[in-house]
Amino acid sequence: MANLPDSIISVFLEKRQCILTDTEVNNAISNQGISCDVEDIHRHVKLLSPGLFQLINNSNGRVTICVEPKIEICDEFLGNHCPAKPKQCDRLHICRHFEGNCPSLNCGFPHDFSTGYNRKIIAENHCQHINPVLLVKLLRLKKFSSRNPSSYLPPTRGHRPRGRGRGRGRGFSHYGSSRNIIVKKDDRNRQVDVSFPSSNLAQQIDMEMIEILLNLHEIKIEDKFNENENEYFRRITIQLERIDDIEKLLISPIINHHGNDIKFKRTNQIIDKTSFLLKTSIMNEQDKIILSRIELYIHRLIKNNSKSKISDLSTNTEQIILVNCNNEIDFNHVRQAYESKSELSGKHFTLIQIYECDALEIHFNDTNKSITVDDLKIIFESVWKDLFAFNFTTHDCAEIEFINVHGMRISL
Ligand SMILES: [Zn+2]
Ligand SMILES: [Zn+2]
Repeated sequence: MANLPDSIISVFLEKRQCILTDTEVNNAISNQGISCDVEDIHRHVKLLSPGLFQLINNSNGRVTICVEPKIEICDEFLGNHCPAKPKQCDRLHICRHFEGNCPSLNCGFPHDFSTGYNRKIIAENHCQHINPVLLVKLLRLKKFSSRNPSSYLPPTRGHRPRGRGRGRGRGFSHYGSSRNIIVKKDDRNRQVDVSFPSSNLAQQIDMEMIEILLNLHEIKIEDKFNENENEYFRRITIQLERIDDIEKLLISPIINHHGNDIKFKRTNQIIDKTSFLLKTSIMNEQDKIILSRIELYIHRLIKNNSKSKISDLSTNTEQIILVNCNNEIDFNHVRQAYESKSELSGKHFTLIQIYECDALEIHFNDTNKSITVDDLKIIFESVWKDLFAFNFTTHDCAEIEFINVHGMRISL
């Protein structure tokens, strides 16, 4: 491969991971026969921070590299709803088919970073020598993993230059001036995700109307965040005032208003409260961390929880440990302990809680065939109403999200 930054990005893409240690990246690159050392990796990722990565300096002199890009893709641009208008948008404006095979012969959306504001964003973040397709793939990997948080990522250190919420999880939200700060607790147990047709498809529906509709059912919204939109859907996470309202709302999770469906689903979908997974990448059997060391680490995570069973689910490339406890796990404690030490024997562990799976990725077997909304309508005809939202990540791949796991089971 032409340059080291491209190789570093490729390691994250191949492993489909957003957090790796410097050693893991270096090993993966060295294994491809490219000569480099950890110092080279440090130098390059530092230059790409905060554009693409955030670096965490560990006490042992090692560096954990997190994909936490400052560079973002403007989703609303494709629906002609860039929120920055008429001011200049600080996110990339690109075609959905940036990675290739754009079906439109005279597509007006940018397919490179050579012009206008895209060029400025790329240059400011020292990414002008990076393969643009790899860069966009990395941004999309990060986005997909924050929307599908099957892996728990440690919170970002340091502040982000722009204060927008990302992904699903947040700590606290602050409102008002610095003199008069009201702090609202972010409580995922009281949150639901809402999806409704994009403003192109249903201009007359907006959040104000949804709020009134919910008020009619005596359900009050306390807080709203993570609002975004693609060509087909708008979605937002709302936090309700009362926890009982969640069940009340989800008994019939679709409200039809003048022919438009407004759909609701639980934000917090953890179903298994007695187990979790620990995962790290390995090169071969000898590269595995010895079990007694892992057991000690697990003991630290779950503290006093009575008897746990540990099962080894490792593959050739990943060491995976399933931890089962007899009692409900105190995940707040587990996360705190994990955040204070997420590495063992120089390897970064990913902590995974077990979620109800409600999302799918769809491809055609013929790799170059584009996938369209009409294809989805045929494939999911019988469960079309149960689709919460969908999104085309590339021309040949669609992400499908269901209202609940029931809809997905029927479709499979
Ligand atoms: Zn924009
Ligand atoms: Zn295009």
